[in-house]
Amino acid sequence: MTMTQRRKHLLERLRLLLSNDIGQRTGQLPLQVISENRPVLERFAKGQAWSLRFPTVLEVEFRGYCREQAKMTRAITALLTALIFVTAPAWTALLLQVPETTRQPTLYLSLFLLTPLFVGVSLAVLLKPRSAWVEALFMAAFLIDVAAIEFLRAQAEANGYQVVAVISVAVPLAVFSLGRLSALRSLVFTLLYAAVLVISASLSPWSGGARAETEVLTLFVVLSIALVATGFSQRTRRQNWALMQLMQLGAQADYLTGLPNRSALERHVEKWIRASSREAKVYSIAVIDLDYFKRINDRYGHLYGDGVLNEAAMTIATFARRPGDLAARVGGEEFVLFLYGCDPDCAQARLELLRASIEALNIENGDSPFGKLTASIGATTVQNPEAISASYEKADQCLYAAKRAGRNQVVLA
Ligand code: GH3
Ligand code: MG
Ligand code: MG
Repeated sequence: MTMTQRRKHLLERLRLLLSNDIGQRTGQLPLQVISENRPVLERFAKGQAWSLRFPTVLEVEFRGYCREQAKMTRAITALLTALIFVTAPAWTALLLQVPETTRQPTLYLSLFLLTPLFVGVSLAVLLKPRSAWVEALFMAAFLIDVAAIEFLRAQAEANGYQVVAVISVAVPLAVFSLGRLSALRSLVFTLLYAAVLVISASLSPWSGGARAETEVLTLFVVLSIALVATGFSQRTRRQNWALMQLMQLGAQADYLTGLPNRSALERHVEKWIRASSREAKVYSIAVIDLDYFKRINDRYGHLYGDGVLNEAAMTIATFARRPGDLAARVGGEEFVLFLYGCDPDCAQARLELLRASIEALNIENGDSPFGKLTASIGATTVQNPEAISASYEKADQCLYAAKRAGRNQVVLA
């Protein structure tokens, strides 16, 4: 790795770490991002990709999604652990007949450290499931758990009470399977787990705490199996997630132009209408219809017509620039442009520019009185948020007015 490559890699890691909040806010990838990454998603979906990583923008969302999915099992694992510790003084005495000298540290550890720690972890997981920091906290808590188990085990054995040394293997197994960590994090957790075991053994004043070779071997075998299983299950998870994104793209994007379709437009507008009520902002809805388009098909053929639709779509899409804006294809040669925070003056200026830009494409339409491709635009600015169908209807009437008035013009209501 050269210096620049390493720097790029580090910056990317940093972005991944910081981008949690972005994932938290959107919770879903924009269609455009899915569309741009279609080939790589297809490779993952077909199971042809062996990489354990998507390109960064996808990776951020995928990790957020996985953490969100693991939310309940993570919270339950942490709560159950808290429950085990809060009841530890009772069951260690009743079931295991652990000597009094060991019950005392168990009580203190569980009351003042482990129970509050795990209750806190489960709350953090529930409140901020997508956060990488919460995931790190989850891992750290279970490492502390391992250290505590080792400490108590050494205490018990110093008092002549035998505890099976491999008992703590339950912790990484629970963390991988219920915590649903990624393969890499599981590996990191395993290494840290091994480090905690080694440190605990070396700190133990009592030499009998050392593990027998068979116990070390058992740990190694069990954890290796769990790690391989985690790697494969993550591969399947990536495959399914890629498939899900592609299905979403298929359901929400227009196949010919790649623009969002009518259903995506409605979802988007509903969301931003709510935002406009909150933020007291206006928005404009424009319906754009290409003029004499049938004549293009009739004269130059359907294939040429498809190409023209694509060019027009690209031009219209460049007018959806600000957050909240969206350009969609809603019918054959009909498009909608949603402009958030755009008042009548802004709508007039931008739509006139759009009309001129389509004309400036200079696409031949020999059978049109204009000789080239033009578009008629009808639009309305909404001051008091209303149902999309109502504003769409108004914009559509303006469109008809523009058509009647001779086409290639903008009419606003
Ligand atoms: P106007 O100026 O009144 O809008 O006339 P127009 O010819 O544009 O409108 P009309 O509704 O008569 O025709 C629309 C045409 O759009 C008809 C159809 O052949 C064409 N069309 C619809 N979808 C597609 C498509 O996906 N590809 C192609 N090439 N043509 C399409
Ligand atoms: Mg038309
Ligand atoms: Mg039409």
